Order: sequence, then C-alpha cells, then structure tokens
Amino acid sequence: MGIPNYQHTAASRFINYVQIDTQSDPASPTQPSTEKQKDLSRILVEELHDIGIKDAELDEYGYVYATIPATSDKEVPVLCYCSHVDTAPDCSGKGVKPILHMSYDGKDIVLPDDPTVVISTKDHPYLKERIGDDIITASGTTLLGADDKAGVAIIMDLANYLIQHPEIQHGKIRILFTPDEEVGRGVAKVDMDKLGAQFGYTLDGGERAHLEGETFSADGVSVVFNGVSAHPGYAKGKMVSAIKAAAAFVDKLPRNEWSPETTEGMQGFVHPVHIEGTIEKATVQFIVRDFVTAQLAHHEQKLRELVDKTVAEFPGMSVDFIVKEQYRNMKEILDGQPQVMDYAEEAYKRAGMITQRMSIRGGTDGSRLSFMGLPCPNIFTGEMGIHSKQEYVSVQDMEKAVETLVHLAQVWEEHSK
Ligand SMILES: [Zn+2]
Repeated sequence: MGIPNYQHTAASRFINYVQIDTQSDPASPTQPSTEKQKDLSRILVEELHDIGIKDAELDEYGYVYATIPATSDKEVPVLCYCSHVDTAPDCSGKGVKPILHMSYDGKDIVLPDDPTVVISTKDHPYLKERIGDDIITASGTTLLGADDKAGVAIIMDLANYLIQHPEIQHGKIRILFTPDEEVGRGVAKVDMDKLGAQFGYTLDGGERAHLEGETFSADGVSVVFNGVSAHPGYAKGKMVSAIKAAAAFVDKLPRNEWSPETTEGMQGFVHPVHIEGTIEKATVQFIVRDFVTAQLAHHEQKLRELVDKTVAEFPGMSVDFIVKEQYRNMKEILDGQPQVMDYAEEAYKRAGMITQRMSIRGGTDGSRLSFMGLPCPNIFTGEMGIHSKQEYVSVQDMEKAVETLVHLAQVWEEHSK
C-alpha cells in the first residue's frame, strides 16, 4: 500500500516506459551513448508538463531537469530525486512486453514467450515476501527494465501527487533523469549549477526498506610490460617477450582469495578485466575495489610487488604501472552530513518500515554525485532480478517508495527554519 486515498500512477506509467527501448551502449563515444534514450526522456518531459511542471526540459546530453516548487515558506535545502532512463547492455531491452500478475500467489511465474524462463521463490527469495502483491515481469525474451524505470515511475508519481496536494509542506525539489548510468557515464555531463540542489537521493535500489549509503571505492590499474622484439629466427639473447611476462604475472595472482569470485560482504578485491599484447608490449587491466579508500593503495602495492617479481624473471623487461581513480565510497561524504541518511530513515519509519542500511558492492550515480557536491544515498524501488529476463518489480513496492519520498520531503521541511 502506498498513500491512502490516492490513485497511484506509478504502475501504469511504468508499463508504458518499459516498452520504450532505452538500452545504453558502452562502446559509443557520444553523450548520450544512444539517441533512443531520449525517446523516453521526451515523453517524461511531456508528462511533467501535463502534471503541471512547466520548467521540465530535456537537454542535448539527454538529461531531464524539472522542479516541484516549494510549498513551504521555510528555508528548506533543495532536494534532488534522481533515477536513470537507460537499461543495461547485458540483456535485450527491445520489444519489452510487460505482464502484470495481479495478487501474486507464490507459484513459479513461467514467462510465455520462453517457458524455460521461470521466476521462482527458490531463486528469488524476496519474491516470497511479495506474495499478494501485483508483480510486473517481462515476457521471457527481454529484460524488464525495472532498473531503473521503476525509479523513474516512482519519481513521476511523486511529482503528480505533490502537485495535486499543495497542502503537503515541502521545500523545492529538483527532478533529475539521467542517461547512461549502466555504462558508468550517468553524471558525466550533468550541470550541477543548473541542478542547484543541496542533497540528493537516487531511486535505484532493490528490496523494500533497504537504504544504501555505502559503495565501493574504485581504482583502475593498467600494468604495461615493455619487452624487446626481434626476428624469431635470430632472437637468441635478444628477444624479451612481453606476452610471456604478462602471462607469468597473471599466473601469480592468488586463486583462493583477493578476487571477485572468492570475496563477499565487506571484502575488497583486485580483478583482471582485460589482457592484450604483442612481443613488444602487453597490457593487463585491473579493477581494484574496497570499501575503505585507503585500502586501495594497499591492494595496489601488493599488485606492484607481483609485477616487480615478474619483471625480475625477465631481464630486459620494463614496466609501467598506471593507477587511475574511478569513484569513491559515498560514505566518506555522507558521514559528514549524517542528516541525509537519518532523515531518510525517519521517512522509512513514517511509511511503516524499519530501515536496513546496506552497502553496495559496486558504484552508483550517487557515488559520483556525492563527490560532486550532492550527498546522495540510494533508496529502494522494488526492482529485482535486474539485468536479466527474470527481472520483476512489485507495484506495491513502487507505491511504498512514492509514499516514502513524500515523507522524506516533509521530514526535511520540518527540520528547517
Ligand atoms: Zn540502475
């Protein structure tokens, strides 16, 4: 249940949005990475105008900005509610056929267009908690796109509700819809001055009551082995193979620890993601992840020691070790502004939930936004089984998120002077 005596629009909007293909493309250099993302963004602008939000606009980079005007005379910090319009490149998002399963009964959901795709409570334990809810799935050949069109629909429904209910006291709220979150460029071209918000919340989390205020800190490392090439027929004593050095180096990485496939919870890792090379030059690319930013240097030092050991085995070999910052744990920012999480927790409570503060073993648009001056944790939407054909979302979870956002805006207002 969401807000009493209000006809929610989140589900009907959601069903429309997911039928629009908005897949992003990591290989594209343009911004947005695919023009078709704007097909949805244009509709969002129109719908915002229909709701009564006159300043809604789409810019050339694919960002939608809009304002829910303040109803309070107090000096309330400007909040931003943010979600992304693109869907993941990992799974087809073309021709999505959403199916609404009313009052879910707990049985396996067999998807009609490919009956081998089954959503069961065995594989999706959270679904068991949603028995009785109305569940939306795709039809078996595509993802659903609840990540993050659930977030988009929630924010749109919230805007619709607040404009219809000016008696609810809140400050100015900026709406931001981003493209390209799934390819890591969601906030690359966002205009922070134009946005003009002080605190933000992304709507891109999963289970009801989860509140995510912690992400990985992330570096990328390139290890470049520089060998010496020579004609293979006359290479004795001259050739130094970068390929063999790279292979020897990768072989030194431990297999039972320090990797994505052997870590969980709060553990960090290093992870080779790409290797390429010739005799002269071979490159191994890593991602390095930890919740504690200072630990990244420790991981990189350990990696460096393995590199040095390798180079010592190949006289004549030289190496470049290049570290590049990717993103940082938003907790470092949020700890300095504890009200951002605390007010969200208060809003969850008013909506009848006990908050579960969670950590994300990855990054979000919010990790970058937090370091761009907009502290920005992540709120649940109900999106589950994301990036797959088993993706689903509960209508009641979306409506609960709308209700939570209403409370959240009110909590900020009450704490202002
Ligand atoms: Zn997402």
